[in-house]
Amino acid sequence: MKIAIFGAGVAGLSAAIELVDRGHTVEIYEKRKVLGGKVSVWKDSEGDSIESGLHIVFGGYEQLQQYLKRVGAEDNYQWKEHTLIYAEPNGQQSFFKKANLPSPWAEVIGGLQTDFLTMWDKISLIKGLYPALTGNEAYFRSQDHMTYSEWHRLRGASEHSLQKLWRAIALAMNFIEPNIISARPMITIFKYFGTNYTATKFAFFRKNPGDSMIEPMRQYIQSKGGRIFVDAKLNRFELNSDESIKGALLQDGHKIEADAYISALPVHNIKTIIPREWLAHKYFRNLHEFVGSPVANCQLWFDRKITDTDNLMFSQGTIFATFADVSITCPDDFQNGSGTANGGSVMSLVLAPAHQLMEMPNEVIIELVMKDIHDRFPLSRQAILLKSTLVKIPQSVYKAVPDVDKFRPDQISPVKNFFLAGDYTDQHYLASMEGAALSGKLVAEKLLSRFGN
Ligand SMILES: Cc1cc2nc3c(=O)[nH]c(=O)nc-3n(C[C@H](O)[C@H](O)[C@H](O)COP(=O)(O)OP(=O)(O)OC[C@H]3O[C@@H](n4cnc5c(N)ncnc54)[C@H](O)[C@@H]3O)c2cc1C
Repeated sequence: MKIAIFGAGVAGLSAAIELVDRGHTVEIYEKRKVLGGKVSVWKDSEGDSIESGLHIVFGGYEQLQQYLKRVGAEDNYQWKEHTLIYAEPNGQQSFFKKANLPSPWAEVIGGLQTDFLTMWDKISLIKGLYPALTGNEAYFRSQDHMTYSEWHRLRGASEHSLQKLWRAIALAMNFIEPNIISARPMITIFKYFGTNYTATKFAFFRKNPGDSMIEPMRQYIQSKGGRIFVDAKLNRFELNSDESIKGALLQDGHKIEADAYISALPVHNIKTIIPREWLAHKYFRNLHEFVGSPVANCQLWFDRKITDTDNLMFSQGTIFATFADVSITCPDDFQNGSGTANGGSVMSLVLAPAHQLMEMPNEVIIELVMKDIHDRFPLSRQAILLKSTLVKIPQSVYKAVPDVDKFRPDQISPVKNFFLAGDYTDQHYLASMEGAALSGKLVAEKLLSRFGN
């Protein structure tokens, strides 16, 4: 079979890996010059790696890790100490360290030892979050009608722990506040966090997500005969009389014909391409229920180290939500001699919530970031900022607000030769690299079974 895939993010590339492995002819069309979508990384004119966003691999990402292994990239990421680190004012840090015990004791004992939660926080958390720890998928789905803040308060958990602990997690997961995010993804995470020790450990790519993951995926697909076209933007579909796709038209006028077509575009892009005729189906109208979360990623190069933390960090009350010194966490990039780096810190910071930043001038945003950096990392006050970059993504992952989960589409559409992949499609993970990888696997399997392969 010949299959055309549009979009070369993790979802599109994962679908391609599955399909080339089963001997099919695969062509990928990507609108940008760089592959990887939200995980893409490119070199700027000074040779520095610019990331769309700081990316972490979780222990629970079984599908993604399987693909990394399949493409020979299983050694391209490194596990870090299993601890949540919160950067506090004036260089202080507080920790949520898992005890070296089986779950849930690892989390219970670790939680009890945490110094930034009061005893009341701890008691109210254990009591309040108990249904999340013992809940199943049906319970999590049933809680999708309310925000996490509402759920937290209903359970009698403390306000301080909401602001101190869970706000950072909501911002890290979906770039939105706990009073906006649905309870469902948050309590699903608690379940993992509280019951599965290995699922919540995290790893950093040794270089960056582009070189360490996307590039090996590209090489693998091409080595198996898959063809990848960049600067190849899907514009519209031409239909047969039964509403199936006759051909796909690219922006440059090229027409593509295939036996089956997969959209691995973000939901906000595909919904503008869906032909009017298809909107008779609820399946396609439902795509309009999704709205993307704005987010920005800022990178700062310093002339000296401003931290020695070899891990992901969170912080509360700052313009950045999660961040790391990638000159420490990523040993094969951002080192002395690569681009601007001279052995000093290279901070990669995810700015969230970011709705108010999209229109703001970059210099103003960098000033705000630097103010908070000075507050959290006193060594930075003497350091020289060598360079700063900012990537703004007005619509990144879909906002996991209450009652939207039920609209996530199956990978099989009502149109017989059209399929959807992407982190927003229906699979058991929230929008993430793992969700995208799972959607790629599912779309390939469902497509082949529809065509009797
Ligand atoms: C700042 C940030 C930090 C993140 N951190 C993490 C993390 O730590 N861990 C984690 O698991 N996830 C993280 N994520 C989420 C993760 O990046 C995404 O969930 C995942 O990469 C989405 O993959 P995808 O293939 O579904 O979509 P995308 O990556 O968006 O890929 C879609 C592709 O389609 C292309 N495209 C769009 N329109 C067209 C068109 N008309 N024609 C052809 N191509 C088109 C795009 O250019 C893109 O390459 C983060 C995201 C961001 C933004």
